Amino acid sequence: MKRTAIYPGSFDPLTKGHEDIIRRSIKLVDRLIVAVAINPSKQPLLSVDARIALMETALAGVEGVECRSFDGLLADFARANDATVVVRGLRAVSDFEFEFQMALMNRKLHDELETIFLVPALNQTFLSSSLVREVARFGGDVSSFVHPAVAEALAEVYAK
Ligand code: ADP
Repeated sequence: MKRTAIYPGSFDPLTKGHEDIIRRSIKLVDRLIVAVAINPSKQPLLSVDARIALMETALAGVEGVECRSFDGLLADFARANDATVVVRGLRAVSDFEFEFQMALMNRKLHDELETIFLVPALNQTFLSSSLVREVARFGGDVSSFVHPAVAEALAEVYAK
């Protein structure tokens, strides 16, 4: 039986921290769906389509990874895609409380769904999409934090 995992998030934008988690996860499962959550209560910088296109560029050549979007409940998206694992990244203790609540809620909604937490390489632990947006907004160099295509997209958005 093929094991499918979902790595859900905003990915606004994808960072090297996310890429690190993706490369670690794909070693554990047969198929990984990196899923951009459409969240009507968040005002994203990049459109869902732009985020997916950037992911596809950054992850080209990584076998077994698909990039998609979803709205509604993650539990329903998992059922619809025969996924039994949710991957999330943990950077610091501050991530833990929210992630713990989400994992328990997702299990309540889908009792076959297990959440696994992966830790990135030490030099990626300080990285977040919001910090990258902040640096790019003020014209800082984000090239060591994101794929070149992402850096280019951010520069274009903020030049407007
Ligand atoms: P969300 O809005 O769901 O938090 P993010 O795109 O910010 O979406 O993050 C998606 C997942 O990736 C979360 O589990 C988050 O903890 C994890 N993550 C984000 N940045 C990093 C990083 N630098 N290292 C490891 N995990 C990370």
